[in-house]
Amino acid sequence: LALAAALAASGSCLSREVNIYSSRHYASDQAIYAEFTRQTGIAINRKEGKPEELLQLILAQGQASPADVFITVDAGNIWKAEQANVLAPLDSPEIRARVPANFREESGLWFGVAKRIRMIFVADAQAAALNVNSYADLADPRLKGTVCVRQSSNVYNLSLLASFIAENGATAAETWAKGVVSNMARPPEGGDTDQLLGVASGQCSVALANHYYFLRLARDAAPDSKAAAAKLKPVFPDQSGKGAHANITAAGLVRWSPHPAEAKQFLEFLVTDKAQGYFADLTNEFPIVSSVPLPAALQKLGAFKVNDADVRSYGKFQAEAQQIFDRAGWK
Ligand code: FE
Repeated sequence: LALAAALAASGSCLSREVNIYSSRHYASDQAIYAEFTRQTGIAINRKEGKPEELLQLILAQGQASPADVFITVDAGNIWKAEQANVLAPLDSPEIRARVPANFREESGLWFGVAKRIRMIFVADAQAAALNVNSYADLADPRLKGTVCVRQSSNVYNLSLLASFIAENGATAAETWAKGVVSNMARPPEGGDTDQLLGVASGQCSVALANHYYFLRLARDAAPDSKAAAAKLKPVFPDQSGKGAHANITAAGLVRWSPHPAEAKQFLEFLVTDKAQGYFADLTNEFPIVSSVPLPAALQKLGAFKVNDADVRSYGKFQAEAQQIFDRAGWK
């Protein structure tokens, strides 16, 4: 009997694991997973893919899904998981206490684990003359032929426009989108880094990109990258208005999680100072927990005001944002 009990115990030990379905592919995440396993003895198995693919997979697996935790970037993507009914509410006073209410779903379906700011980058040499301070400026006729932005199908742009719809209505959002289209230096192409390089190379004077692409460029070992970053002036938009647009990396418990206790332990670990520090250090994302100290690279960007919009609105108006972009001719 003792032997049977010992075997059962060791068996249950071996099954202490969490299966994470993640659309992220950053070194920071592996460091976080390794630290979690070191602290708890709980093994982590990862499955990576595009957010849509992972959601479809979990839905196809249904109750048989091994997925415990879903992680993705952008409130627009986690909102899709919520809509697909793939997540279960997690009751965690700890997460509620550490994550501001506008960065999580109120019943606990998901929460932000890190923050990303959609910033404006201006050619340093022209910054004083152009005087760009707001998202509205990107649509101002004075910037005609100077703006680099990526395609409208990109979720970062969709979430930004969705936030404008929520804040100022669809008509104002469409006027803005049309204004930006008529200011474009070139048809939208490439990712956020390509927009930064567009400014550095002189193809455009102003770009829209998430803050960490700039920090990544500045930290890159290649001298060309550093030189490119040095030509850019980062601008936190709307500092005299509602503040810079913030988005999140988000996580939630999968509805059919076979290891809900371990998954909860992992999700709570993500908001600890230790894990928050990893996000800040390794992917240059801002901690979602405001008391966590910023590493030097983030501090260097300076203090700024964040728009405290409820990020759920980014999901709600995502489809309408795409329609507006299409009407505005934003490719
Ligand atoms: Fe990104």
